[in-house]
Amino acid sequence: MDDEPLRHLPKVELHVHLEGSFDSDRIAELAEEAGEQLPGDPQSILRPRNLSELLERLDWWCGLVRAPEQAFRQAYDFAARLGADGVAYAEVIVNPSHWRGLRREALLEAVSAGFDQAARDGHCDAWLLVSLLRSQSAGEALEVVEALAAQPPSRLVGLSIDGNEAETGPTGKRFAPAFALAGALGLGRTAHAGESSGPEGIISALDDLGVRRIDHGVRCVEDPELMGRLATEGVALNVCLTSNVELLYGSIDRHPLAALVDGGLAVTINTDDPVTLGVTLTSEFALAQQVCRWGMRGAIAATDTAIRASFAPASRVSELRKRLSEFAAEARSERT
Ligand SMILES: [Zn+2]
Repeated sequence: MDDEPLRHLPKVELHVHLEGSFDSDRIAELAEEAGEQLPGDPQSILRPRNLSELLERLDWWCGLVRAPEQAFRQAYDFAARLGADGVAYAEVIVNPSHWRGLRREALLEAVSAGFDQAARDGHCDAWLLVSLLRSQSAGEALEVVEALAAQPPSRLVGLSIDGNEAETGPTGKRFAPAFALAGALGLGRTAHAGESSGPEGIISALDDLGVRRIDHGVRCVEDPELMGRLATEGVALNVCLTSNVELLYGSIDRHPLAALVDGGLAVTINTDDPVTLGVTLTSEFALAQQVCRWGMRGAIAATDTAIRASFAPASRVSELRKRLSEFAAEARSERT
């Protein structure tokens, strides 16, 4: 299957980090503007060896963003890049703890403004998931959500949590109050789990954080009972193939995507850190096609799953589904 039809598929992305949207040229430019030396050649900076190294580097390059205009531009350019790849709607994770050169409120306002302007200019319709870091304290996490309640950024749709669970150990109980408050405020809730944690991380995300959407979640295959629960409860798993290959499985042949799909789980396809990983959502869909042999029909089904798992209001969900069915009808008529 050539990639061009997949580029035209009106895609929806639910698991992508603005922190992973910096390319080597932008990093070099920001370093110069900040008067800082690059710690190595720009290409190797973008090739971390593991999750810990990736998180350290994110801290460094996000910390080079010192002015709201720089954050605006990063958000705008990223939404434009997604739009050029045929992504119609995206919920973009921003973890303010990585962006140490800007106050949180200023960062989130600038990112919202960048997404707003990009949507007005006809690029991807991108929204904001503010993310906690697994190493934060319960008090810090609660303070983030209280601040969002007091002054919600205009493009906010939900709360997320990411970070390295292999280093922090189980933290579900610690973040339960922050997630409960987010739920009470009507915010969407999503959590990274089942990547740097095993099945127990997914169970904790469901039970302690109240999420019905998991970022990664692939390690549920290690627990058949959990797989059954996820299928029954219709929990969406926001899978990122290349990211999982780089940081977890080492080879696409060992990735459990086909087992997840065969197990009846609600799977969506995502990029995680697209620029850092050198992928696009189109190329990730093409890789999923190689793994599952699911044809355009499978790609359309995964997109429909993503629309239904999104935190978009009902009217936006209907528009996205309508656009997807028009695409599906056209794809069918081209086949016949
Ligand atoms: Zn992620």
